[in-house]
Amino acid sequence: MKTIIEPFRIKSVEPIRMTSAAERLELLNEAHFNLFNLHSEHVLIDLLTDSGTSAMSQEQWAAIMRGDESYAGSKSFFELEERVKDIFGYKHLIPTHQGRAAERILFSVVARPGMVIPNNNHFDTTRANIEYQKCEAVDLVIDEGTKPELLHPFKGNVDVKKLRKLIEERGRSKIPMVMITVTNNTGGGQPVSMANIRDVSAVCHEYGLPLFLDACRFAENAYFIKLREPGYEDKTPLEIAREMFSYADGVTMSAKKDALVNMGGFIAMNNDEWAAKCRNLLILTEGFPTYGGLAGRDLAAMAQGLSEILDEDYLRYRLASTEYLGRHLDELGVPCVKPSGGHAIFIDARAFLDHIEPLQLPGQALACALYEQGGIRSVEIGTVMFGKVNPETGEQLAAPMDLVRLAIPRRVYTQSHMDYVIEVFADLAKSRDSIRPMAFVDQPPFLRHFTAKFKRL
Ligand SMILES: *Cc1c(COP(=O)(O)O)cnc(C)c1O
Repeated sequence: MKTIIEPFRIKSVEPIRMTSAAERLELLNEAHFNLFNLHSEHVLIDLLTDSGTSAMSQEQWAAIMRGDESYAGSKSFFELEERVKDIFGYKHLIPTHQGRAAERILFSVVARPGMVIPNNNHFDTTRANIEYQKCEAVDLVIDEGTKPELLHPFKGNVDVKKLRKLIEERGRSKIPMVMITVTNNTGGGQPVSMANIRDVSAVCHEYGLPLFLDACRFAENAYFIKLREPGYEDKTPLEIAREMFSYADGVTMSAKKDALVNMGGFIAMNNDEWAAKCRNLLILTEGFPTYGGLAGRDLAAMAQGLSEILDEDYLRYRLASTEYLGRHLDELGVPCVKPSGGHAIFIDARAFLDHIEPLQLPGQALACALYEQGGIRSVEIGTVMFGKVNPETGEQLAAPMDLVRLAIPRRVYTQSHMDYVIEVFADLAKSRDSIRPMAFVDQPPFLRHFTAKFKRL
């Protein structure tokens, strides 16, 4: 197989500043070993998130100039509406400033206290917005989806038996909607098969329940279907995406992912009554229905991004470059969640640093070592993010897994950047026994990973 080259060339560049390991150790100390405290100019390769970090194309920048900033009836809105209808097929488009605003508005309209909303895995803002409505967010991913080392082509699938059981137990009237996240971000960016979307849809229709997709990474999911699901090899990503959406009644979307923009989101749906209620709430906090918290130029860039994201050359390169990083780390003996997801590689830090106990934060230790060694910023998804403190005894409890996520921004880094990341891991693999455990110095009560302070033991 030939090298999969980036299907673009570079016209505008953003310099990255080189730093030395000694400088980075000093910066880590100043940041209290919390990578969220680093200034981005001190990061060489920033793999903190793929959200809002995409590089826009020349056509998107041109669209920015052509954006129509009219308060009502902006031309850019109608361009976006046409594009969204073409791909998603729904009647109503409600733009929002990002994905969580779409979630807040939708759940305010459909959810009542005591209700339950199932999903394969709820993303953390989705869960938080459901819980804010005093509802329960239930995860029903297949068992295979929870085993990091297990190979399965569609680890994001919903367990249809569990879904049926939940509906029978709680009753149809307690469930305002069923959701599927494509790809399943919280489960490692793992895809959902067309067969599974179809099966979930059939159960929903049997009980008269609406199905919504959390569609942030719909294009990556569509391409996984093309690569892995028999019968789809000869279909275009657009045809596959259209079929995915045809089984659902609407979507919530963070355009910061597969719409290739730095800010934006939307709700799209068929239900007239819900759409009218959502628009009323939109006017209250986001803006008039034809801009919804965004500038006209943002809508224009989003419309253009949506016409680039389903390009086969792009999607082939996107999934191949993520897989490339995963495969090389695997060859170095770095334990990763398998198979590689669409947007990120997850490293099992608890297995890689097996001399560090979970309560001594192996994920944080690895993320800090990765920065010190190579200036690479990643994020801990483990005991720091999801561990708990027993409120009575003050005892610390570990999370089920200690992962470190390397999320890959879209169209930003080249293969040589990824080769560099692999080389840094090769060094770390040799010196892993000398990576020191860590401890909290200070932790806030909520979402502690953003502001906690740490020390090396
Ligand atoms: C990012 C994300 C969201 C929330 O979107 P924001 O634009 O960050 O508010 C919701 N669901 C999934 C699956 C996401 O990845």
